[in-house]
Amino acid sequence: MSSTYTLMLHGGAGVLGDHDYADIRAHLKGLAERGRDMLHSGGRAIDVVTAMVEDLEASGLYVAGRGASPNAAGRYELDAAIMDGATQMAGSISTLTGYKSPVRVARAVMEHTPHVMIAGTGAVNFASQGKFERVESVNDYYQPAAEPDDREFPTGTVGAVALDSQGRLAAATSTGGTLNKMEGRIGDCPIIGSGTWADETVAISCTGQGEFFLRRATAHDVAARMKYAGQSLEDAAHAAIADVGDLGGEGGMIAVDKNGNIAQPFNSPGMKRAIVKAGEPVFVDVK
Ligand code: ASP
Repeated sequence: MSSTYTLMLHGGAGVLGDHDYADIRAHLKGLAERGRDMLHSGGRAIDVVTAMVEDLEASGLYVAGRGASPNAAGRYELDAAIMDGATQMAGSISTLTGYKSPVRVARAVMEHTPHVMIAGTGAVNFASQGKFERVESVNDYYQPAAEPDDREFPTGTVGAVALDSQGRLAAATSTGGTLNKMEGRIGDCPIIGSGTWADETVAISCTGQGEFFLRRATAHDVAARMKYAGQSLEDAAHAAIADVGDLGGEGGMIAVDKNGNIAQPFNSPGMKRAIVKAGEPVFVDVK
């Protein structure tokens, strides 16, 4: 197998200065090791990002999947997206509730429908036709990982990007959205090109105040800067986050390109993340 594979995970932008993130650090490290093993044995980028995000969702440690918080109406509406850079296929699900792994449903949209994005009642109906694990009791299952808190930057999306040993790129992102969001609000995460993007050159998963990422089409902005302006991944990713900041938005992203270069810019107070490359130890940080 080629030794060029790379995996990056994030557990959301924003950390509290006085919070102990030992559990999240340990989880990200263990998960990145599992992902590295998958890539080492020839796993496809699209399968690895799916498995990584599914685990992040199920952990309950982040504001996604089990850890999602209710919206202002007291209901849970989850968003997820996935994109395969090798095929330029994408799938996305929005305002979904009652299923354990929104990213699995997003992947099924990609693989089993002629569409890219399904939302609302249609999303729930679509999920009900598949073999997806349901949440038995919504109120028992969801255990909000974060309470609305004036001190905290109120986000906690999860995401993964991978470059596999065959040079294929993929990205996946999943979220419960921003805390106290309005009912029906859709952020950047499920919008292909805003919160999630992968093509033959680069894979990106964003986290932060989605409205600003939507207004900059941030994930695709990185790809466009590389493609049309010849920028390096590092320059493109930092410029894209600077543009989000210019609008007044906070957040960050994880990004990997086809050569295994990585970027992890953020202008928020911290971003939980893990990075692993072939033959190297896992890097984990929250600041
Ligand atoms: N970007 C997500 C959203 O706006 C939130 C997050 O990253 O935590 O829905």
